[in-house]
Amino acid sequence: MNQPETPTFSAVVSRGVMCRCPQCGEGKLFASYLKQVDRCAVCGEALGHIRADDGPAWLTIVLLGHILAPFLLGVVPNLTWPVWQIMGLVVPATIALTLFLLPLSKGVFIGVLWRMERNAVKK
Ligand SMILES: [Zn+2]
Repeated sequence: MNQPETPTFSAVVSRGVMCRCPQCGEGKLFASYLKQVDRCAVCGEALGHIRADDGPAWLTIVLLGHILAPFLLGVVPNLTWPVWQIMGLVVPATIALTLFLLPLSKGVFIGVLWRMERNAVKK
């Protein structure tokens, strides 16, 4: 079988963050918000069978926790704002960050799973 060179781990992760194909880095990884394409439109790599399951949600929670926890513990207690104003800032920011980070996390997971599968096939 004549397969192209497997990209490095860091290349696969950066392509995942950019929601691009882990093989070529050019084709789009998602057909819609979180629905991945069956095959890359540029290189034809099969991507639709890779199941990230709960991994992207887990990574999103971990990242969001590290972003929001310092803010919630360090800044919010010192604010003199009413609670409704703080909640009016924190809740929409949390929702927006979650919706922003989830496809990036899924892109990273799909890329890493694709690379692991590629390396397993080689052995
Ligand atoms: Zn591709």
